[in-house]
Amino acid sequence: IKKIAVFTSGGDSPGMNAAIRSVVRTCAYMKVDCVAIYRGYQGMIEGDFKPMDARSVNNIINKGGTILKSARCDDFRTKEGRKKAYDQLKKEGVDAFVVIGGDGSFTGALKFNEEYDFPVIGIPGTIDNDIFGTTFTLGFDTALNTVVEVIDKIRDTASSHNRLFFVEVMGRDVGHIALNAGVGAGAEEILIPEENLGLERLLESLKRSKASGKSSSIVIVAEGDKIGKNVFELKEYVEEHLPIYDVRVSVLGHMQRGGAPSCYDRVLASRMGVKAVESLLEGKSNLMVGVQDNKLILTPISKAIKGHTKIDKELMRVSDIMTV
Ligand code: ATP
Repeated sequence: IKKIAVFTSGGDSPGMNAAIRSVVRTCAYMKVDCVAIYRGYQGMIEGDFKPMDARSVNNIINKGGTILKSARCDDFRTKEGRKKAYDQLKKEGVDAFVVIGGDGSFTGALKFNEEYDFPVIGIPGTIDNDIFGTTFTLGFDTALNTVVEVIDKIRDTASSHNRLFFVEVMGRDVGHIALNAGVGAGAEEILIPEENLGLERLLESLKRSKASGKSSSIVIVAEGDKIGKNVFELKEYVEEHLPIYDVRVSVLGHMQRGGAPSCYDRVLASRMGVKAVESLLEGKSNLMVGVQDNKLILTPISKAIKGHTKIDKELMRVSDIMTV
């Protein structure tokens, strides 16, 4: 392998830049050429390439988002689109690529490999932590810190006015952000898709909390939660059935995807980038780099895109105990 391409694809997340930097610098260290592709698979099809050397990635380790931009690309879902991408890579002399993204981006990489026997390695970048084969995805830790910081602020105003807040957080179909940030921010209840608490139990819990003398309450609601009501409907429901509360809603939204990556995400991204390039140079392919028990591991992409992450039951128990 003489030339490796790196790009970001799908939703952006903090730590992607640190991963790009790591891939580029590892290539420089190993004396392999490196080229960046802008706008994911769309840029691949259009030949939007830029040669990278160690100095091309100065001052990006601390930046959120992705300097290479990200894009969704419908063309790449077709055989014709992938043929165009292959032709562009060949023209540029690229022998392998590292894709930083989520499930969809990995599925595209796998198809591309099947059709052209092209070596590919994935690095999981998403704040949702919803990828099988790694305990942490890039951006998850940063998002948790962002959410906790914001909830601390909401708590200040909630306790000054004896209010109940429903705070909606991201996470797609999983509750990792909600559960971890909920415990970290001391939430009263945490509603996650993996365990439907039910409206009755929610009311009971809020009643108990009020009776125990708490001046305010914060309920974290994962966006994929299955209680059957969104945060605004939950507010109405509680106001109707439990008029002892003054209820407010806060939907945190896209701010959760931004910001400077945490130290944890920077370190993880640096480690994953090295592992990705080394794996390609060892002749490996179709693998995703992940971390488990603080060790880097490789999982077949075919498994990573099919598997489901599990919620930490022990952490759910901790959360229950904390709201005594
Ligand atoms: P996230 O969902 O976390 O934002 P992702 O990588 O899953 O990230 P997607 O939008 O699902 O994001 O996928 C990114 C790109 O990967 C798509 O725009 C498309 O170009 C390519 N892709 C996704 N699924 C396929 C597929 N089945 N076949 C070929 N390419 C695909």
